[in-house]
Amino acid sequence: MVKVDVKYTKLFINNEWVDAVSKKTFATINPQDETVITQVAEGDKADVDLAVSAARKAFHRYSPWRTMDASRRGLLLLKLADLLEAQARYLAELETLDCGKPVKNAEEEVYFSASVLRYYAGKADKILGNTIPADGEVFSMTIKEPVGVCAQIIPWNYPIPMLAWKIAPALAAGCTVIVKPAEQTPLTALAVAALIKEAGFPPGVVNIVPGYGPTAGAALTHHPDVDKVAFTGSTEVGKLILGASSLVNLKRTSLELGGKSPLVIFNDADVEKAAQIAHAAAFANGGQCCCAGTRTYVQSGIYDQFILKAGEIAQKRSVGNPFDDVQQGPQIDKEMYTKVLDYIKAGKSEGAKCMAGGDKLGDKGFYIKPTVFADVKDDMKIAREEIFGPVQSILKFDTFDEVVDRANDTNYGLGAGVITNDITTALSFAKHVRAGSVWINTYDHVTSQTPFGGFKESGLGRELGEEGINQYLEIKTVTMALPNKPQL
Ligand code: ADP
Repeated sequence: MVKVDVKYTKLFINNEWVDAVSKKTFATINPQDETVITQVAEGDKADVDLAVSAARKAFHRYSPWRTMDASRRGLLLLKLADLLEAQARYLAELETLDCGKPVKNAEEEVYFSASVLRYYAGKADKILGNTIPADGEVFSMTIKEPVGVCAQIIPWNYPIPMLAWKIAPALAAGCTVIVKPAEQTPLTALAVAALIKEAGFPPGVVNIVPGYGPTAGAALTHHPDVDKVAFTGSTEVGKLILGASSLVNLKRTSLELGGKSPLVIFNDADVEKAAQIAHAAAFANGGQCCCAGTRTYVQSGIYDQFILKAGEIAQKRSVGNPFDDVQQGPQIDKEMYTKVLDYIKAGKSEGAKCMAGGDKLGDKGFYIKPTVFADVKDDMKIAREEIFGPVQSILKFDTFDEVVDRANDTNYGLGAGVITNDITTALSFAKHVRAGSVWINTYDHVTSQTPFGGFKESGLGRELGEEGINQYLEIKTVTMALPNKPQL
C-alpha cells in the first residue's frame, strides 16, 4: 500500500487551521479496504457562522481583497495554478487514497484543475460592462460586480476539479467563498487550502469547512448572510438547496445535478471505435460521473455486433488497486456500492441480458465488475434511474425520430452524444436533443472554455467558459442625468 502523508485535517477559516467549535471530528474512509485514513474536524453551524463572518469581512468594500487590482486577483489565481501543478503527484495520491480513483486519472485532474484556474485568471481584469444608449438626456452604463459571499458545496466524484470549477470563477469575479467538500473526500480540498494561503490570498477570501450535508451544508444554504450558493450533487439535494435559498434570502443559486445521458450510435459508425467511445462514456471514473453516457442506443443494423464488442471491452477493463496502472478502482463508499449492486440485481430481474460483469469483485473494498446490459427496455429501472456506478445499458432503435424521442424521455438533460459519419444526422440530433452538452463522435470532452450544465432536472446555470463567471456577477446599471440642452 502506498503511504501518503496527510498534512491537513482541520477547518480552514480566515487563513487559519482551527478545530471545530464542538471539537467533533469524523472519519474519512479508504474505499480500497474500508480502513480509517484519518479523523477530520467536523464543521457544523457554529463553524459555518465563523467562516461566513470571515468571508463577509473579507468582502468589505475597503478590504485588501476588494481594493486589490483585478489583474492582481488574476495573478494570485495563476500562482495557485502553478502551486497545484508543483504538487500534482502528491495531490493525486491523496485523492486516490480518499476516493479510490486511479492515481493516473487523479493526476490528470490536477492539471485540468490548474487549466481552469488559469482560464479564469485571465478573465479577472476583463469583466466588462456596457454603455447604453438609454432614452432621455442621460448617460447610462452597466458595471458587473461580484455577487458577494458564496457558499460552494461540492461532491466526492471529482474533488479537486469541482473545487477549481467553483473557486476559480468566484475569485476571478472578486467574491469570497466558503467551500464545503463532500464528507467522503475532505482531504484534497484542505491540501489545496494550504496552497491558497501560500499563493497569498488574503484571510477570509477562501474558507474550507468539511462536514456533513444536513449539518454544515444546510447551515450554509440557510445562512442569511450568504449571497449565493453553488452546488454540485444529486438532484434530490439540489431541490432542497433551491428551497432553502427561497426560504431565507433568495440566494443566487447555481446547480449542477444528476443525469441519465443518452449516447446514440447510428448504423454507419465504425463498431469498434463506437464501442470504445461508448465504453469510456459509461465507465469513466467507475461510472461516478454526472454526465456518464449510461444509455447507449444502438441502431438495429449494427446492434448484434455492437453488444458483443461492448461486452468484450468491459470484460477486459482492468479493475483493482488504484495506485497500480488500472482503469478502475473501488466505488466511493459502502452506500454507493450497495446501491449499484442493487441496480445490477434489478437489471437481471427485469430481464436485461448481462454481457459482462454483473457482480462485485473480491471481498475487500468497494470493487464492482464493469457491467454491461443489452436488450434494455426504456421502462426498466436501469434505463430510467441514475446508477452512478460501472453499469452500461444498451438499447436497440430503428429510426432517427424514434431515438430522439426516447433519448429525451427523461427528467434529466445534462449530456448527450451521437456517433455517425453523417453530418446532417449529427447536427439534427444536436438540435433536437434536450441536453446541456452534446458530443459528436466523442464523449465527455469538457474543457475550461466550454460551458457545462444541465437542462431540466440536471441543473440551473452553467459552469466553465464565459457563462461560468456570469454566475458570480451582479449587473448594476448606472444612469446619470446630463445638463439640460442649451437652446441653439
Ligand atoms: P452524492 O449523491 O453525490 O453523494 P449529494 O447530493 O448527497 O451527492 O452530496 C453532494 C454534496 O452536497 C456533499 O458535499 C454533501 O455533503 C452535500 N449535501 C448533502 N445534503 C445536503 C443538504 N441537505 N444541504 C446542503 N448540502 C448537502
